[in-house]
Amino acid sequence: MTNQLTPNLDPRALAGLLSGKHLIDGAVVPAASGRTFDVVSPATREVVAKAAYGDATDVDRAVSAAKKAQVAWARRPARERGKLIAECGRVLAGHVEELGRLVALETGKALRTESRVEASVLADAFVFYGGLGSELKGETIPFNPNMLSMTMIEPIGVVGAIIPWNVPLMLMALKIAPAMVAGNAVVVKSAEEAPLAVLRVCQILNQILPPGVFNILSGMGPECGAPLVAHRHVGKVTFTGSVETGKIVYKAAAEKLIPVTLELGGKSPMIVMGDADLDKAVDGAVVGMRFTRQGQSCTAASRIFVHESIHDAFVTKLKAKVDAMKMGDPLDEATDIGTIISIQQYEKVQSYIKIGEAEPGAKAHRCSKAPTDGKLKDGLYVQPVIFTGLTNASRVAREEIFGPVTCVIKFKDYDEAIQAANDTEYGLAASIWTRDLKWALDATRRIDAGLVQVNQNLVVQPGMSYGGFRSSGLGKEASLEAMLEHFTRKKMVMVNLQ
Ligand code: ADP
Repeated sequence: MTNQLTPNLDPRALAGLLSGKHLIDGAVVPAASGRTFDVVSPATREVVAKAAYGDATDVDRAVSAAKKAQVAWARRPARERGKLIAECGRVLAGHVEELGRLVALETGKALRTESRVEASVLADAFVFYGGLGSELKGETIPFNPNMLSMTMIEPIGVVGAIIPWNVPLMLMALKIAPAMVAGNAVVVKSAEEAPLAVLRVCQILNQILPPGVFNILSGMGPECGAPLVAHRHVGKVTFTGSVETGKIVYKAAAEKLIPVTLELGGKSPMIVMGDADLDKAVDGAVVGMRFTRQGQSCTAASRIFVHESIHDAFVTKLKAKVDAMKMGDPLDEATDIGTIISIQQYEKVQSYIKIGEAEPGAKAHRCSKAPTDGKLKDGLYVQPVIFTGLTNASRVAREEIFGPVTCVIKFKDYDEAIQAANDTEYGLAASIWTRDLKWALDATRRIDAGLVQVNQNLVVQPGMSYGGFRSSGLGKEASLEAMLEHFTRKKMVMVNLQ
């Protein structure tokens, strides 16, 4: 089957067309209550669409459709499911521009540096997982020559996926593509702030997938997310979001004894040794801190430990780089940095900047310039801030801000840096920058985080296991084992041959 939906490159028009809809059992439908909520573009603060206000009735409709569809879906040969998922990736590749524009409109993330890139990763994740159908294989156990003993890998059934607003397309793909290849049907609950692009993906993919295999609902966390977790036919929940909500989801899942994957927050350290290639490390800090995404990333390098011998030069170069980045209209090709997602998030980030500034000895280096263009004057722009003079004990260095705020902290020796890097409740990502192989390899062992990189700060890549330790979450995403460990169950079969 091929995609019959022509890409619509006018994001405002598309937002209007997608207004007020869930996608359940292959059909776009309004919320059972008929209620909607506003979707606001953070760059202009205009209401660009209405989203369906989902509640427990909608959840029940979607889960029932998924439960029914899953039976036939799971019966298809795994490679055939995989081929369809890979086909989804190829079709999505033809919608990159459309999806990039739509996600830029609803999230405020710049099209060139962020939103279009995210739409490409979405397509790539489907192609990657589509190739893994034949990996859903069991083992035989040489228990007794008169017995065939083997394990079988089965789908769980209906998977509930709850996603955040910062990278909605990519994070949804990393959940639903492996879940569906493994033979599950999915019900996604989109984030309040970013329901449009993911709904469009669901609409596109329902041209390829059987109805009911991929359903999507929009709504508030407690009214739509919570009933999804609690629904008796949801056998697995995969969640990305804050630590507080992650704990609520985990407790609700425990009531039903179902497995969960939790991708939560971070306060990721970057250690720059005195022998590091300074220019590369500065570039790495710009990428690692996700300044182009206004720092709205759980892996943001928000604690940068720099050896005292290069600290001042590092700060000067980093400030110059970030200063040269252009803040502006997310849909403008010239823009490097867009906006913060919502007024709540904007106020939270501003309050942390004030907290940091009040610390004795702290200096907030504000970089770049917010746009002055009339149309964008109410946009949620926050100038990136590089703090110096803070310690790792300050609130700015300990609490997740989810904004364009990083601190550069001076250190004297390697052990002190490792200790400070690990002195956090989080354990998601980290990097070390050095030319010394011994320091580099030692750090990969000693840093208490799920992803440790040496001399780079790459974003999540399909094929690479991604997931945090401690308060950063439970389980892995993005890799083969993410599919095998998190979206399947294992059955032991013993056949008496005598
Ligand atoms: P953020 O603070 O970044 O918005 P949240 O953790 O609150 O992060 O939200 C992440 C996702 O979890 C969103 O889709 C949100 O609607 C959903 N959510 C919020 N509260 C609940 C809840 N009680 N149960 C299930 N999902 C929830």
